[in-house]
Amino acid sequence: MRRQGVLLTSFAEIYNWGRANSIWPLQFGLACCAIEMICVAAARFDIARFGAEIFRASPRQADLMIMNGTVTKKMLPQVVRLWNQMGEPKFCIVMGACASSGGPFREGYNVVKGIDRFIPVDVYVPGCPPRPEALLHGLMEIQKKMREEPLTGPDAPRYFRKDTTCEYPIPEFGEHDLVPPYNSELWKPPAPIVREGK
Ligand code: SF4
Repeated sequence: MRRQGVLLTSFAEIYNWGRANSIWPLQFGLACCAIEMICVAAARFDIARFGAEIFRASPRQADLMIMNGTVTKKMLPQVVRLWNQMGEPKFCIVMGACASSGGPFREGYNVVKGIDRFIPVDVYVPGCPPRPEALLHGLMEIQKKMREEPLTGPDAPRYFRKDTTCEYPIPEFGEHDLVPPYNSELWKPPAPIVREGK
């Protein structure tokens, strides 16, 4: 039928095609990785080719968070608050070693050892810093995820389900450190290593 000029599609396909080609990233930078993100928006790498050139300064108008640098414990409450303020459907790309795991500052007393302990992450882009092409690849992975996302059934996104939440606890400094130290819905601390004979 396609050869005869008849196009058949579903509502989900049109909906997913539309949002995959008009992503609005949140405009903010955390550390050196942000410089590479800025390059992506400039003429040479030209993120506009993928329909994602409209960086918005307001979380209310953005649907993609790009975590682009070191997340300090002081910055973390603001990051989670921004994530909560973004409307669904929303996605998160973690860019670089720092946001993924703490990177070279992992042992620092003031650095979060991975933002995925506090907010859900869809795509990780490795590197220190990742090149702009790598971030574009991460964006294409997000687009693929959007295009293939079912809107109904057990694999439906969290905002269509009643058994999940879209709001995450905002950590605050308590007597000793951040409370909560992680989001228990997303991350569980590894079991302690017990050595024999001790
Ligand atoms: S991953 Fe490397 S380039 Fe990116 S913020 Fe950390 S130290 Fe800077």
